[in-house]
Amino acid sequence: MAIVTPSTRRSFIQHAAAAAAAGVGAATLPNLARAAAPFARAQGPGVYRYNLGGFELTALYDGIWYSPIKDGFVRNAGRRAVNRALNRAFLKPDVLPISITALLVNTGTKLVLIDTGSAGQITETAGLMSANLDAAGIKPDAVDVVVISHFHPDHINGIKTKDGDKVFTKAEIMVPEPEWAFWMNDANLARATGTVHKYFLNAGRIFKDIAGEVHRYKPGAELLPGIVSIPAYGHTPGHTAFALHSNGQSMLVMSDTVRNPYLFARHPDWQPTFDMDGALAVQTRRRMLDRAAADRMLISAYHFPFPACGHLTRDGSGYELVPVMWAPSP
Ligand SMILES: [Zn+2]
Repeated sequence: MAIVTPSTRRSFIQHAAAAAAAGVGAATLPNLARAAAPFARAQGPGVYRYNLGGFELTALYDGIWYSPIKDGFVRNAGRRAVNRALNRAFLKPDVLPISITALLVNTGTKLVLIDTGSAGQITETAGLMSANLDAAGIKPDAVDVVVISHFHPDHINGIKTKDGDKVFTKAEIMVPEPEWAFWMNDANLARATGTVHKYFLNAGRIFKDIAGEVHRYKPGAELLPGIVSIPAYGHTPGHTAFALHSNGQSMLVMSDTVRNPYLFARHPDWQPTFDMDGALAVQTRRRMLDRAAADRMLISAYHFPFPACGHLTRDGSGYELVPVMWAPSP
């Protein structure tokens, strides 16, 4: 039996590189410099469909936000530990890739959109949601209900265009009551500073002039048949997750309970600064990860790599994401 050692592994790669440099095999390979087709420099549509019982689900990709990691980003882990976790996932150091994927649920009686993307108002590498909705064959006015998990801009900005027009013109908008109470409170706004202050102003921009049309739900309530809200506080004061149930099948929509899985599923106790109440967010995260892994539940999570859907397994003190396998039809 041949034994592969680091040096034979290296020589395998070196041999191939040397052959390429020497032009060995060039007669049989196409000359890439003369390809007739130009580089496309774009992906195909970010749309992924799957079924849950009698529901049809569509993951709609909005983009990715490459957020530089500042010192103190995780309150209880240093930059070296964070970079080690990124390296283990083959990601670059000092940058957090925040993928954004909204979820459209066709229950058979209602078309429900859970969170709405960034509308291109956060970073130039996100804002594809409406193009992907179009690629999925859905017109915005076909959406019956928009359900919001929490009031961070990457979740609510898609409700309106930059000019302030409503995007989902016929949809009822449902938001968590404690989230509304916190972000729409002028005394809280007056006390807020920095990024959080901007989030308050943004929430006001989105919701103030449509306040009368917004339905506020109590987390824990069933919002529509088969769509149950779950209090998941900590990330924000009213942050909400969801359980979908159809024909005996269930799925957990985790919202922002776990953001990047390679950092915060693997290290559930880490407290990033974007969790407003770090300790409460850890409790919520641990509870939800434990449930998802123990029950082998299908999960979707807004910031997981596209299509933001898979399973979580317990691995030592943390959890491992096992993404779904792309399939040609739901
Ligand atoms: Zn988010």
